[in-house]
Amino acid sequence: MNSYYRILSYTKPYWKHIGLTFVFTILFAILNGVSVYLTIPLLDTLFQDPASNQNISQTSSITSSSSFLPDWIISIKDDIVNTFNTYILTGDKIEILIKICSVILVAFLLKNFFSYMQSYFMAYVEFASMKDLRDDAYKHLHKLPIGYFKSERVGNLISRFTNDVNIVQSSISATFSNLIKEPLTIIVFLAITISISWRLSLFAFIIVPAASLIIAWIGNRLKKLTVVLQTKLAEITSILQETISGVKIVKAFGMEEFENERFKRETKNYFKMVLRTVRTRNLSSPITEILSIIIGVVIIYYGGILVLVDKSLNASQFLGFLFAIFQMMPPIKELGSVNNRIQEASAAADRIFEIIDTEPHIKNAPDAVTLNEFKEDIVFDNVSFKYSDGEVNVLDNVSFTVKRGEIIALVGPSGGGKSTLADLIPRFYDPTDGSILIDGINLKHLTVESLRSKMGIVTQETFLFNTTVAENIAYGLTDYPMEKIIEAAKTANAHNFISEMPQGYETVIGERGVKLSGGQRQRLTIARALLKDPSIMIFDEATSALDNESEILVQEAIERLMLNRTTFVIAHRLSTIRNATNILVLDRGRIIQRGTHEELIAEEKGLYKKLFEMQFRDNND
Ligand code: ADP
Repeated sequence: MNSYYRILSYTKPYWKHIGLTFVFTILFAILNGVSVYLTIPLLDTLFQDPASNQNISQTSSITSSSSFLPDWIISIKDDIVNTFNTYILTGDKIEILIKICSVILVAFLLKNFFSYMQSYFMAYVEFASMKDLRDDAYKHLHKLPIGYFKSERVGNLISRFTNDVNIVQSSISATFSNLIKEPLTIIVFLAITISISWRLSLFAFIIVPAASLIIAWIGNRLKKLTVVLQTKLAEITSILQETISGVKIVKAFGMEEFENERFKRETKNYFKMVLRTVRTRNLSSPITEILSIIIGVVIIYYGGILVLVDKSLNASQFLGFLFAIFQMMPPIKELGSVNNRIQEASAAADRIFEIIDTEPHIKNAPDAVTLNEFKEDIVFDNVSFKYSDGEVNVLDNVSFTVKRGEIIALVGPSGGGKSTLADLIPRFYDPTDGSILIDGINLKHLTVESLRSKMGIVTQETFLFNTTVAENIAYGLTDYPMEKIIEAAKTANAHNFISEMPQGYETVIGERGVKLSGGQRQRLTIARALLKDPSIMIFDEATSALDNESEILVQEAIERLMLNRTTFVIAHRLSTIRNATNILVLDRGRIIQRGTHEELIAEEKGLYKKLFEMQFRDNND
């Protein structure tokens, strides 16, 4: 429930629009009542002689004075009735008919206009506050640690931004519309019915809400069943997906029968649920109709007695009363489901606020200083690291020093901790133990922005944004001169293929744009890093199969990028390894060997020599 109030707090900046929504809601409700009320004189005009019109309005005011309404309301009502009598109910029958029809027309026009305005302002509040909520959550997303974005969470996170926000959005209209508009409509019709006959009203108010609530209950049950149905269907889909993608395994292990049984079990469950839903759904409309008819018949009977025997009501008032009663049913039904919608929205809001409330671990310390320039060295001092959901240390007491301008190659078997080590340098994670110092200052005491601004990162997953080549190269740099962009592209061996694109540097690439080859994408990301001109480069060399020419071009680009920088590279190419000042061999989170290529290859029993023979000998240099 707390999250629900928190959602409502997002509507606060739009209080003016909410105010207007209120005003139009009130006007709508009144006009809605008036348009129904007008049926009484209309019926009188059609079925009785004009003279008795006077009687009717008098009767209705007599009836109302015998009700429990306060005097001032009765006097206002009498004034309105009198004015109405004087201006509308005078003249011959046709004249009266024309006048009443005109009034009805105006009343309906106004009612619809107010309804339109009310919906507009309501939608404004809804969409504006949800825009703010999305923006808040998105802004917070950038503060969250890399670990938060594990691949299995991505779909889940996206769904929070789309589905959950939509559910929350609908709860805003549920609040303002259902909790304000519907009660107001009910009150207006209540006033009408009571003013016509309080005895009949009292009678109706016992049976109408009861029936409406039964109808609402069926609706809610149907909704719940639909949700269950969807989860069951999702289970079937996931079995299907598993079987199709794992078809080799299923066949190899002779598991066809087992999978058949599993599938049959799920389809049977689904079938049962479908039947239940169908039963409820098919029952809902006859039940609704039967209930409405019962209400109608009972009220008609009792009303008929009041008209025929008691004579406290005349026929047109009675019909007006019936109209009013039936107008009240939908709002009562809506009110019955409002609690559900709010509950649903609270659950959705919880999921969104979970993002906003996740504390970023990596943030600037209060006394953080700016790193102006990287001058001396980077020191790993007994660094250990464990992922929050992991059990063992992925890095274990790692210590080494890198001097400015050196190239450090990280090699080792897969899962050894190379990427993790590289991720600690830009502070994507903080060490669990030990410290990393840059020019003698612990990374934790530097502002994250100043630290990251000194670094360039090129990974195997080249990421290009859905925008022009030039903007992709100059990502994060505003107003960059074109010459510099071209210069970077040339150094990265990318200028030639860019020039051949339809609009050169202005060609849109990425998801919806021109498709690029792996090598071209890599050269673009290298150009991006070159333009940023960072003093520290972190590299995850691609092993992906590039064709020979591409490989040479990429290699050249990489070597130029490393020039005059301090480079950490997860090395896969022999040339890089040969050029490295120092090679660290990482196995199960420990540095088990270190030295230059020549030194390491000389260690006959070392892992490096083995790795080298397995991994690098075949790679052409
Ligand atoms: P390498 O780059 O040498 O292949 P990694 O640094 O990627 O090694 O991984 C080292 C170990 O940490 C592996 O056992 C891997 O399963 C684990 N690991 C990597 N990323 C995560 C993560 N985000 N959460 C939990 N464990 C992880």
